[in-house]
Amino acid sequence: MPELPEVEITKKTLQKYVQDQYITDIKIKNYSLRYKINKNFRKNVVKKKIKKITRRSKYLIFHLSDKTFFIIHLGMTGRILVGKNNTLLDTSFYSSNSSINKHNHLYFFFKKYVMIYNDTRRFGFIKFYTEQELLRSSHLIHLGVEPLSKSLNFSYFKERIKGFKKSIKNTLMDQSFICGLGNIYVNEALFISKISPGRMSFKIKDNEIILLIKSIKKILKKSIVFGGSTIKDFHNSEGKSGQFQNFFKVYGKEGQGCPRSSCKGIIQRSVISSRATFFCTKCQVE
Ligand SMILES: [Zn+2]
Repeated sequence: MPELPEVEITKKTLQKYVQDQYITDIKIKNYSLRYKINKNFRKNVVKKKIKKITRRSKYLIFHLSDKTFFIIHLGMTGRILVGKNNTLLDTSFYSSNSSINKHNHLYFFFKKYVMIYNDTRRFGFIKFYTEQELLRSSHLIHLGVEPLSKSLNFSYFKERIKGFKKSIKNTLMDQSFICGLGNIYVNEALFISKISPGRMSFKIKDNEIILLIKSIKKILKKSIVFGGSTIKDFHNSEGKSGQFQNFFKVYGKEGQGCPRSSCKGIIQRSVISSRATFFCTKCQVE
C-alpha cells in the first residue's frame, strides 16, 4: 500500500513534470474506482492549468487555475506513471510488479507529457472539488497533524495522549492524531524508540515522547530519500523492482533475530487492531 513517503515522492515527481502545465485533454477508460469518477470530471479539468500540487496525509491535491481542485488517493495499489508515452516513469516504489496497461484507468494529457492513473485493485479514487467543497471534504476535515511538520512536537503529543486509554500503536495509527503514518512506519518508529507497541499511551514517558517524535520524522525522511533514489532506477513502466523494503528493521521480520547487536531477542508478530505488528519483546519495553 502506498504510504506517506511514496505519496510525497509522487508529489515531487509530478511537480517536475506537470505543475504549471495545461491539461490539454483527458481520457477516462474506467470510471469505477472506489468512488465512481464524476461524469463531469473531464469538463471540469480540461483546458485548466495545474498551478500547484500539494499533499495532505496521503492525498495528492491538484490546484487548478480557476481555484478548483482535484484530489487523488492511491488506495491499496494505485500508482501514477508520468512522462512521454514511450518513456514513462513509475512514481511507485513499494511494489515490485510492473504496471499492466489494462489497469491504466485515467490519462491526463499535457503538451509534452502524459500522466496515467494505474490501479489494479481500484481502491483509490479521484474527485473534483470547488474551494468550498474542498474545505469541507470529509476526507480532509478530520485529519490530525502532518508528521513532518512542526505541529508534531512534544507539547502536542503530551497534551493529546493524556486521555488516550489505548495502546501507543493504536494512537499512532489514529489519523485524527497524526495523519498519514502507516502501519510500516509505526512498527519501525516504535522499534527505534524501544517502546512496546502494546503499551498504554498515557504511560509513555517524556523522554520517550521526544525520542518517538524524532524517530517518526527520521524514518519518514529517510524513506523519502531512499524512495527517491529507488525511483531514479525506473526508466520505464517495466522498471526494476523496488528495493525499499530492504530498509525495514522489524516490519515483516518475524522469527528473525533482533537487529540491535546488543539484543538477543527474536522479532515477534502479533495483531493489534487487525494490523500486523512486529516488535522485539526484549528491547521494546512494555
Ligand atoms: Zn531487541
